[in-house]
Amino acid sequence: MLVVMQRDATPSQIEDVLAAIRQMNLTPHPLPGATRTAIGITGNIGAVDPRTLEVLPGVMELIRVTKPYKLASREMHREDTVVKTPQTVVGPGTCTIIAGPCSVENEAMIQKTAEFLVENGVKLMRAGAYKPRTSPYAFQGMGREGLDILARVRKRTGIGIVTELMDTDNADAVEEAADIIQIGTRNMQNFSLLKRVAQARKPVLLKRGLSATLEEWLMAAEYVMAGGNYNVILCERGVRTFSDHSRNTLDLSVIPPAKTLSHLPIVVDPSHGTGKRDYVPAMSLASLAGGADGLLIEVHPDPDHAMSDGAQSLTFPAFVKLLESLRKLAVPLGRTIV
Ligand code: PEP
Ligand code: MN
Repeated sequence: MLVVMQRDATPSQIEDVLAAIRQMNLTPHPLPGATRTAIGITGNIGAVDPRTLEVLPGVMELIRVTKPYKLASREMHREDTVVKTPQTVVGPGTCTIIAGPCSVENEAMIQKTAEFLVENGVKLMRAGAYKPRTSPYAFQGMGREGLDILARVRKRTGIGIVTELMDTDNADAVEEAADIIQIGTRNMQNFSLLKRVAQARKPVLLKRGLSATLEEWLMAAEYVMAGGNYNVILCERGVRTFSDHSRNTLDLSVIPPAKTLSHLPIVVDPSHGTGKRDYVPAMSLASLAGGADGLLIEVHPDPDHAMSDGAQSLTFPAFVKLLESLRKLAVPLGRTIV
C-alpha cells in the first residue's frame, strides 16, 4: 500500500500518518519525492481498512501495490533509484564500472590493481576477502587479513571498495571495510544474511541466484529494503541453463523487465556470466546497450596465475581497450561511463 500525500502536506500531517500506520502494527517507509511525499506501507496489510488512512489530513490518495515485492517495485517508487557512495553514483544516465580481481591475494596485487583502476578513472574496486567456492579445497579467501588490505588500499588510493559478505558473523567487519556490500549468487536467498544487511549503513549489491526468477530476486531485494536499507543494486551474473558453451547464461533480457518492474539500478557481471575473458568485451558492450546501470568486471594484473577465476579475468591492456569501446558506445546512447 502506498499513501500519497498532498503537495502541501505539512511535516506534522506526515508524522500523524506515520504514527497511524505504526498503530496498525505496520511499518511506514517515507519516500520523499520531487513534489510530494509518499509513504510506503509494509507488513500484513490484508487486515487493514485503508479508509482510516484516507481520511487523515494531508492525504491525497491510497494506492494498492499489487506486486508481492513492495518497496522494490516501480508501483511504489516511480523514479529510478540512484545509489550513492562517497566516490560515485550508480543509477540512470551513467554506467558505473566496478572492477578488480576475484579475490584479494596479497597487498601488492590489490595496490597495483587499485592504482591501475584509479589511473583509468574507475571509482570502485571489487575484490573478495571471503570467497564462496564450489570446492572446499579451493582457495577460500584471505578473510580478515584481506579486509585489512582492502581498507589500507582504499585509504592510500581513494578507491571505493566492493566486497562480499558470506555470513552474519563477519558482517560488522565487512560493513566497515566496504563502500558496497556484495551478496553473492549463492546467498541471494540466505534470509538471515539479507536481514543483517538490511541493518547495514552501506549499499548492497545483490547478485541474482543461479536459478532465481526476477520475482524471487526482487523479493530478496525486498528483504533488504523492508529492514530499512533502500540502497540496493541488482546484479545479473548469469543463470544456469542447458547451455554449456559458457560458464553461465548471461540473461541480458532480464534488464528491461527489471527496469519496468523495479526502480532499483541493475549492473551486469559479464565475467561470471561468460566464464571466459575473450567473451567479456562483447557482453559488456551488449549490457551497456541493453540498459545496464553498471558493469562488474574481473580484471587481474596476472590472470593466468590468479588464485580464482583467472580464465574470466581481463588483463590490464584488455581492460583499457574495453573501457575505450564502452566510452565510445556510451556517446550515441546518451550515457556516461563513470
Ligand atoms: C564473485 O563475484 O567473485 C562471485 C563469487 O560471484 P557469484 O556470487 O556471482 O558467483
Ligand atoms: Mn569471481
